[in-house]
Amino acid sequence: MNPTTPTGKSRGANDGLVLALAGNPNAGKTTIFNAMTGARQHVGNYPGVTVEIKEGSCRHDGSKIQIVDLPGTYSLTAYSAEELVAWNFIIHEKPDAVIDILDASNIERNLYLAVQIMELGGPLVLALNMADVAKRRGLKFDLELLQTLLGVPIVETIGNKGAGKDALLEAAVEMANRPEPPKPHLINYGLEIEAELAKLQQRVEALDLAALGLDAPPTRWIALKLIEGDTDLRDHIGDVALIEAADRAAQRLESLLGDSPEALIADHRYGFISGACQEAARSTIESRHTMSDQIDLIVTHRVLGIPIFLGLMYLTFQLTFTLGGPPMDWIDAGFTWLGETISGFWGPGSDSLLRSLLVDGIIGGVGGVIVFLPNILLLFLAIAFLEDSGYMARAAFLMDRLMHKIGLHGKSFVPMLIGFGCSVPAIMATRTLENRRDRLVTMLVVPLMSCGARLPIYALIIPAFFPQAWHAPMLWVIYLIGILLAIGCAKLLKKTILRGETPPFVMELPPYRMPTFKSVSLHMWNRGGEYLKKAGTVILGISILLWAMQQWPGLPETQVQQFDEQRQVVEANPTTDADAQLEQLAEIDHEQASVTLQSSLMGRVGRGIEPILRPCGFDWKISTSMIGAFAAKEVFVTQMGIVHSLGEEQGEEATTLREKIQASYTPLQGFCIMLFCLISAPCISTIVMTRRESNSWFWAMFQLVGLTVLAWLVTAGVYQVGMLVT
Ligand code: GDP
Ligand code: MG
Repeated sequence: MNPTTPTGKSRGANDGLVLALAGNPNAGKTTIFNAMTGARQHVGNYPGVTVEIKEGSCRHDGSKIQIVDLPGTYSLTAYSAEELVAWNFIIHEKPDAVIDILDASNIERNLYLAVQIMELGGPLVLALNMADVAKRRGLKFDLELLQTLLGVPIVETIGNKGAGKDALLEAAVEMANRPEPPKPHLINYGLEIEAELAKLQQRVEALDLAALGLDAPPTRWIALKLIEGDTDLRDHIGDVALIEAADRAAQRLESLLGDSPEALIADHRYGFISGACQEAARSTIESRHTMSDQIDLIVTHRVLGIPIFLGLMYLTFQLTFTLGGPPMDWIDAGFTWLGETISGFWGPGSDSLLRSLLVDGIIGGVGGVIVFLPNILLLFLAIAFLEDSGYMARAAFLMDRLMHKIGLHGKSFVPMLIGFGCSVPAIMATRTLENRRDRLVTMLVVPLMSCGARLPIYALIIPAFFPQAWHAPMLWVIYLIGILLAIGCAKLLKKTILRGETPPFVMELPPYRMPTFKSVSLHMWNRGGEYLKKAGTVILGISILLWAMQQWPGLPETQVQQFDEQRQVVEANPTTDADAQLEQLAEIDHEQASVTLQSSLMGRVGRGIEPILRPCGFDWKISTSMIGAFAAKEVFVTQMGIVHSLGEEQGEEATTLREKIQASYTPLQGFCIMLFCLISAPCISTIVMTRRESNSWFWAMFQLVGLTVLAWLVTAGVYQVGMLVT
C-alpha cells in the first residue's frame, strides 16, 4: 500500500508502515483502533457497525504509522460484503502486518478467523482482547504455549482500558519489520483433501498470479479456497478449466467423505483450534455443550481415557479373530483342495520337481499368506472406522501426555498408529515432525508397532497354542509389548544419542462424525489390495526362491543310492507283512527328506544361525524361517509351511501347518516366535524407507542391528526364564 506522504516533520525508521486490524464483530477492534489513533469514532457494541474501511494514524518511536480498521468478520469467505472487503484488503493492499483482535472470552470461535489469516500467510500478530472478561469467566491461557502452538506472537489487551495497546503496537511493528514473516503451523486436512489440494495447487502455480493480483497469498491457500467453492475468488481467476478441476475435486471429496469439502475443511480448522485450546486454554468453569465435547469429556478423560483406548484396541482384535475365523477356514480348505487336486495329476509318492514347486512352493507359500486376508481386512476396517470417526485424533491427544513423558510430542503417536498398518507409510508420516531428532527417534521405533504383516504370524501361532478364550488377550498383549518397547526405546534414545527439546504442536481434535461406508471400505480394500499384490509378487518370488534353496544342491548320488538300497531290502524281505513294510518304507522316505532338507542350502543357512538363536528356543526350522521374515514378515508363515511340508510322513493324513507346529513346539516356543518376529529386524522395505527418510545408511543400519539385538535379548530372556518356571 502506498504510504501517505510524510509531512515536513522528520521521518522515523518505520514511517509509512501500514497495519490492518481484523477480527470478529464486537471483538473490540474499533476500541483498540481508537485507543491507538486517538480518533473519535462511534463505538457500538452490536455487529455491523464498522462497514467500510476506516483509516487513522499514530506515532510510534517518532514514526508515523497508518492503521486500518477492517470490517468485522467471522471468516474469510465471500459470503458477505464485510468478509469480501476484509480479505480483499489483506490480499491486494498487502498491509505490513495484520493485527487480529480476538475476543478472549470466546476464543475458539475467534480463532477460526485467525487460522484463516494464518493460512493466508504474511505477517500477523494476535491480540487476546477482553482479557478481563475472559478472566471473569474463569478462562486461563498459557500464552507462551499458545504462541508456540500457533507460531504467531500474541499480546493480551483490555481494549476499553487501553491496557496492552502499546505492547501490541510494538509487536506489530516488530513483525512488520521482519525480513520474512514466521511460518505459522499449518493445518493438515487429511490424506484425501491434501491429495486433491496438491493437485490443484500445481495448476494454480501455472497461472500468472501477479497479473491477477494474487501473488501475495500462498498457492495452497488459493487451492483451498477453490475447493471450498469461494465464488469471488473463482470469478476473479476466471480460468474455466481450473474451476472445473476444482469442482471435480470437490465432488470426489464429497462422494468419498460424505460431506461438502467446505464443511470438512471447517471441521479440520475447528479440530486444530480445539486441540490448541485443550492444551493452552483452561476453563475453571465447565461450559461445553456440543455432542463432540460431551464425548470428549469421557474419552479424553484423565483417568478413563487410556483404559477406553486400550479397551477399543482389544475390541478391534476380538473382532479381527472371531469374525475372521470362518472365512479363513474356507480359504484354507480351498488351497488344500487345490494342492491335492494338483498333486493328483502325478499320483501318490511322486518325486516330480514340478509338482513340488507348484504344491509345496507356490500353493503352500502364497496360499499360506492369503489365508490371513480376512484378518487383515477386518483389522483395517476397524482402524479406518476409528480414524474416520475422529477417535484416533483423540487417542493421539491422550497419548500426548504420555509421549511428553518420554520426551516426544503426541504428534509422534500418529506415525506410530500408522505403524500398526505398515511401517513404510508410518516412516513417511514422520515428515510431519519438524524436529529432526524427534523424527529420527520416531522413525527408529516405528517398526515396534506391530504391523499388518506380522498379524499372519500371530494368527498362525496363537490358535495353535492357546485356548479360544485367550486368543484376543494374547494378541493384545503382543501389541502392548510392542508399544511398551517402543516407548522404552524412544525414551532411551532421547536420553542418549538423540537428546533435545521437543517443540509443541497442535493436536487436532476434529468434531466426531459418522464415517461413510464408502471411505471406510475404500481404506479397507486398499489395504487388502496391497496385501494381495504383495502376495502375488514379492511373496510369490520369495516362495519360489526359498523353495529352490531347499531343493538345491540335493543329496549326493551315493546317499540316494543308500536309501534306495534300504528300500529294496525292506521290499525283498518276505517275513514282514504288507502293513509293516509300508511303515518301514515311509520311515525311510521321511529320513531321506529330512536329510535332503538339512543338506540343502536353506538347511545349511538355518543350521548355521541356529546356535545363535538356540537360547531363544528356536530350532533350525524356525531359524530358517526367520531369514525369510526379513524379506517380508509374512514370509515367515510361508517358510514354516515349506520347511514343515517336506518332512511330512507319507501315508499320514495331510495336516494343517498349524497342527504341525502345535505338535512340534511348546507354547513357550510359540510365544518366543511371536516376540522375536515382533521386535527383530524390520523387513527390507522398512530399512530402505528409513534410509530414504533419514537420508543416512547409518540410521538404517542402526535400526536393523539395534532391533535385532533387542529382539534376541528379550526373547532369550523370556525363553530362559520361561524354561526355569515351567
Ligand atoms: P468491534 O465490533 O470489534 O469494532 O468492537 P468494538 O470496538 O465496537 O467493541 C465492542 C464493545 O466491547 C464495546 O462496548 C467496547 O467498549 C467493549 N470492549 C472492547 N474491548 C474490551 C475489553 O478488553 N474488555 C471489555 N470488558 N470490553 C471491551
Ligand atoms: Mg467496530
